[in-house]
Amino acid sequence: MRLYILARVELQLHALNCAGSTGHFNKLQEAYIIKDGEVVPCPVISGNALKNYHARAFVKEYVSLGGKKLHKRHFVDQCRVTKEMLSKDFSSKEAVEEDIVRNCAVCDVHGFLLAEKVNARRESLVKFSFAVPTEDTIARKLTYTIVHNRVSPKVSQEGKEEMMIFRRQYASAIYSFASIFDFAGVGRSQYVKEEGGVWRGKLLVDEAEAALRARAAVRAYTRVLSGELGANTSRALPITRVRQLVAVVAKSLVPCPMHPFYEDYVRDLAKLISKYSDRIHSVLVYDSGGSLIGLLSSVEACGAYYEVVEKAEQKILELLGEAP
Ligand SMILES: [Zn+2]
Repeated sequence: MRLYILARVELQLHALNCAGSTGHFNKLQEAYIIKDGEVVPCPVISGNALKNYHARAFVKEYVSLGGKKLHKRHFVDQCRVTKEMLSKDFSSKEAVEEDIVRNCAVCDVHGFLLAEKVNARRESLVKFSFAVPTEDTIARKLTYTIVHNRVSPKVSQEGKEEMMIFRRQYASAIYSFASIFDFAGVGRSQYVKEEGGVWRGKLLVDEAEAALRARAAVRAYTRVLSGELGANTSRALPITRVRQLVAVVAKSLVPCPMHPFYEDYVRDLAKLISKYSDRIHSVLVYDSGGSLIGLLSSVEACGAYYEVVEKAEQKILELLGEAP
């Protein structure tokens, strides 16, 4: 059981994805995309960054829902789980996994790697692609350099305050990204099989706790989509509009939908919905322009992007047998 998120989000005049500074110039991350056989440079936000923002939002949502199982180490120095676990003595990777998953929702949902003493790892249940400008906009100029001034602590020989000039790159683009959330794996072992039936990991937390974590993980997408993420948001909070958002709640295996980078992703999605209707529980769609809804059948149209997220949460709870 999986949730597929396909998003197209307008982010204008943002500097969320800084690559660092060279002298007095702050540059954005840039990568190359192939379009019609041409290699095109473009600003990108890495999947690593999106996953990080999702993890931070997840913790806030989990705590606000009443969740209590989190490693304190994540708040002390944002260190991964290693230091906390090295103080304990484990005999096997299964024992490490059980301890970590029981005691920490963020390690459960976002995975961990312990490479000392006992080698144990958990694959993240939440996966993100890079966010890249959509295929139809990628060949345009999308980055701009703005000159900023700030007063320098240095004073000139004439006794005047000096101005320090620096340049920062910004980007305006319609970004597309995809994400997959394996909600059936929440709170379950990736090493030990559940007794009887088809392959499924052994449940390591109670069902109510697993459902709470799944709810928080779905809600966290709202913050990722709203532009409230990344670097430089104090002075360059992105001018944001979610253009299109699709949530596919699948009850069994379906092929991964085409990435919303491609212009024809909707046509591919329509085929997928029709071919695998017996495996798809629901498809929730928001489109600020409205044209997407008419191209897709058997979908639930939503009036706002956060409505898609809210409904996806309800659908997932139904499938987990935890509907309120
Ligand atoms: Zn943890």
